[in-house]
Amino acid sequence: MKKLLAFTAIATAAVGAYAQDFPGSKPITIVVPFSAGGPTDRVARDLAEALQKPLGATIVVDNTAGAGSSIGTAKVARAAPDGHTLLLNHIGMSTMPALYRKLPFNVENDFEYLGMVNDVPMTLIGKPTLPANNYKELTAWISQNKGKVNLGNAGLGAASHLCGLLFQSAVKVEMTPVPYKGTAPAIADLLGGQIDLLCDQTTNTTTQIEAKKVKAYAVTTTKRLTTPALKDLPTLAESGLKDFEVTIWHGLYAPKGTPAAVVKKVNDALKVALKDPNFIKKQEGLGAVVMADKRIEPAEHKKFVAAEIAKWGPIIKAAGVYAD
Ligand code: ASP
Repeated sequence: MKKLLAFTAIATAAVGAYAQDFPGSKPITIVVPFSAGGPTDRVARDLAEALQKPLGATIVVDNTAGAGSSIGTAKVARAAPDGHTLLLNHIGMSTMPALYRKLPFNVENDFEYLGMVNDVPMTLIGKPTLPANNYKELTAWISQNKGKVNLGNAGLGAASHLCGLLFQSAVKVEMTPVPYKGTAPAIADLLGGQIDLLCDQTTNTTTQIEAKKVKAYAVTTTKRLTTPALKDLPTLAESGLKDFEVTIWHGLYAPKGTPAAVVKKVNDALKVALKDPNFIKKQEGLGAVVMADKRIEPAEHKKFVAAEIAKWGPIIKAAGVYAD
């Protein structure tokens, strides 16, 4: 017994010393579970830039994309819990548990929560050659083309998938889902006319809407946005889809078992990064709202994700969509 206690004391002291030295000279990797150049990637790269100084480390972004973010998320769940491998993921953390029958991780038990980063609205956009020029014309076009309309998404559990599901059930028309590893490749295909519609975060669509490269129909928030390029877009709720609301949020995670002192260091640095005027300017310019409420705190972040799991689970189950 004595031996065990002594061992535990040595191990705790070693972790404590490690945590004090963190991050040391080794770079930190933020895993983005979607393709490069997409909206989650945009948030991660802007955040990585803002975090480097307060964290005192070089931060690299690793895109491990696929299966609606479950592949990259699993990679972080399995990584060494030393603070050098972090995950930036969105609402998928709360939709995956209902959408996947077998997930190789447990969202609530296998991660340390480091704080939330932002809230991001979504937009419903169409290919440039789509004849509909506003939401009313879009619904008419969809009903004239029943069975032929396709809708891109970033895989089961992705924000675009969730938004698309809700949109289809609200307009009561089934569309053909076209999955990608992220919405960067989906938007490229939308621009090329290979897919008809896409529901995607403003962090990916604002510049395309501004340049009038895509047709923009609506925003998914209950209030109109103030970002100049997006302020004239109606909400889906005011367009007739009562109560339609999807806001995407992003949070930062570490593997379970990451020392509390490391969690605190990252969270302290995150709080500094979220006040960085350059980060705020970039994110606001893309329609995102940088986190400034209590969800910056790890415990509140965890509570919020649990509430989101409870909120979306029954909606997803009712839609009858899942992956084995
Ligand atoms: N916007 C994507 C989604 O639908 C994710 C991404 O590519 O960042 O969840």
